[in-house]
Amino acid sequence: MAGNWKMYKTPQETATFFERFTPLAQGWEKCDIAFFPPAIDIPEAVAATRGTNIGIGGQNIYWSKEGAFTGEISADMLVAAGATWVLIGHSERRHVVASETDADVLKKTQAALSAGLKPIVCVGEKLDEHKAGKTNEVLVKQFAAGVAGLTEEQFKEVVIAYEPVWAIGTGQTATPEIAAGAHRLIRQEAEKRFGSDAAQQLRILYGGSVKPDNIQGLMKEDQLDGTLVGGASLDPDSFIKIVHGA
Ligand code: PEP
Repeated sequence: MAGNWKMYKTPQETATFFERFTPLAQGWEKCDIAFFPPAIDIPEAVAATRGTNIGIGGQNIYWSKEGAFTGEISADMLVAAGATWVLIGHSERRHVVASETDADVLKKTQAALSAGLKPIVCVGEKLDEHKAGKTNEVLVKQFAAGVAGLTEEQFKEVVIAYEPVWAIGTGQTATPEIAAGAHRLIRQEAEKRFGSDAAQQLRILYGGSVKPDNIQGLMKEDQLDGTLVGGASLDPDSFIKIVHGA
């Protein structure tokens, strides 16, 4: 169960969040829990969650180790700050703040894995693609260009998040059936490239307007291994309800 904070919360607000959330999650071992705060909040989040079952990750990395790349951070820098996870290819990076391509996603995922970070690779179709019935086509292409180039060893460490762009921040959650169908397709692509064991073990999260009141319906689908939550992860009481609901 992952929480993407996008561009919300200062370091002080991060500390306040975990003062409330950490006791609520204490001893919870039924799933992994990870938060993805803005980069500037990572040291605060790592300090606040040390010794707990909560992991911290970055929202993005650049694939080089260091260099003249103003505004970017490397995988090694995230590791040095105490992060263990990273989001790769979130739709807001693909379509809003940067024009990240599937080739970029592959390079970033490889860089994350080389540094020892666990990547959550985000895929998903836009509204026009959804309406045109192109979801499968988009997912196959994103998997082929963004993930299939990994080695079998690397793939074992990867989590995929299916996030239909039309469902992110819109309140229009995909139905459990739509989400499960997309997850099934991604798993099939994983099986073709990496074999059936790897495909069965692959964790696929659903993301897009997940809330406390729709988590149970979604998680009833066997295909869903967890969720990536944006807006509803900003409030500790709301996110713990989602964790418990799942
Ligand atoms: C996200 O940011 O990945 C996301 C799914 O956002 P929301 O839950 O707000 O739709």
